[in-house]
Amino acid sequence: MGRQVTGMDQWADMYSQRATHLRESEIRALFAVVSRPEVVSLAGGMPNIKDLPIARLAESAKQLILSHGPQAMQYGSGQGWGPLREQIGNVMSYEGSNPNPDNVVISTGSQQALDYVTQIFINPGDVIVAEAPSYVGALGVFAAYQADVVHVPLDEDGLIPQALEETLADLKKVGKRVKFLYTVPNFHNPGGVTMSLERRPQIVEICRRHHVLVLEDNPYGLLGFHSEPIPSLHSLAPDTVIYLGSFSKMFAPGFRIGWAVAPPAIRQKLVLASESALLSPSMVGQMAISGYLSDYNWYGQVKAFQGMYEERCQAMMDALQEYLPDCTWTKPTGGFYTWVTVPEGIDTKEMLPRAVTGQVAYTSGTAFYADGQGRQNIRLSYCYPEPDVIREGVRRLSIVMNREKELVELFGPSPKTSPEKK
Ligand code: PMP
Repeated sequence: MGRQVTGMDQWADMYSQRATHLRESEIRALFAVVSRPEVVSLAGGMPNIKDLPIARLAESAKQLILSHGPQAMQYGSGQGWGPLREQIGNVMSYEGSNPNPDNVVISTGSQQALDYVTQIFINPGDVIVAEAPSYVGALGVFAAYQADVVHVPLDEDGLIPQALEETLADLKKVGKRVKFLYTVPNFHNPGGVTMSLERRPQIVEICRRHHVLVLEDNPYGLLGFHSEPIPSLHSLAPDTVIYLGSFSKMFAPGFRIGWAVAPPAIRQKLVLASESALLSPSMVGQMAISGYLSDYNWYGQVKAFQGMYEERCQAMMDALQEYLPDCTWTKPTGGFYTWVTVPEGIDTKEMLPRAVTGQVAYTSGTAFYADGQGRQNIRLSYCYPEPDVIREGVRRLSIVMNREKELVELFGPSPKTSPEKK
């Protein structure tokens, strides 16, 4: 399903070692198939932006170019536009942070900031400790820089402090250098869980004691279902946390604007990485986002998104209850995803082509681990389809899964799901 390379690749022996570590994500690989209209896709994580005020945004974009064209169409600073960096301080204040705009670096989506952070900290073989499971796009970056990813389990309250402590102690014993903990504390992708208030200071304190940075990736933080935003890890320890934020989910991904906040020395390196990668982030994108924040009730829009996603989440929860009673799943309080555990013996990666034939798509749990785990899990996203489509998707999934159970009964479990291969 990957992109086709036609003919022999005459440059095959010329690529860098790093290029051999570039991976196509299981989600992007699925894209062509799940885009077919007859398939209900519960696979992707596209934000549902149909209710954005498109006519007003068009008018603002026109005004921006008419009144500030020469600046908007020009190069800017590698660190990002000052007024937007100030406004980001206000956005982050909702989660208790008060960053100095000097320490904010604008990036092309938070995905690029993930790349910068990994680039400036990771030598091949360095360890990144990451939640089990973890965001597939982060794992792709970590693989590209040849990091050794060590997973630490999550439960309903997020990353488990005791397990983190033990993992860091074990790694120290065998002389492994851990550079940072990668965590998505709010409305986890793909886990659908949120780190409890109680655990937050514990996680930060454990990392501080082990001299390990925390990379807090928080694109969904404002999308709790009508709950108050939760204090970020950054608000607890700005000296040891690198924070990544994004406008992709609280507004829209189209302008591709995200940001990083880091202590000054790290911020300097991030600016160098930005200058080297792209000279400067898009001025027109930054100015458009800045206008959206200043001229529009952006937080009112966030509230509207919360209600819309909550309704879809509820549709997903109801459908799972009705159609997949022998699975278990997480109960999100915000965000886009739930993490489903299927009955033993079913291999979700092997089942996927049969699900697509049954006109439903999901992402196999294997996409979210660096070490081959996840065959008994799937990530279902409820962000994009309408509630009745979500319901239909889960119904189709139940048909596929029931057939799969029959196969397991007849022929035994898939060898790859046996405990020693997990
Ligand atoms: N982190 C997480 C956890 C995500 O889910 C995503 C997008 N799916 C990103 C980072 C990247 O988002 P963007 O580059 O659009 O800001």
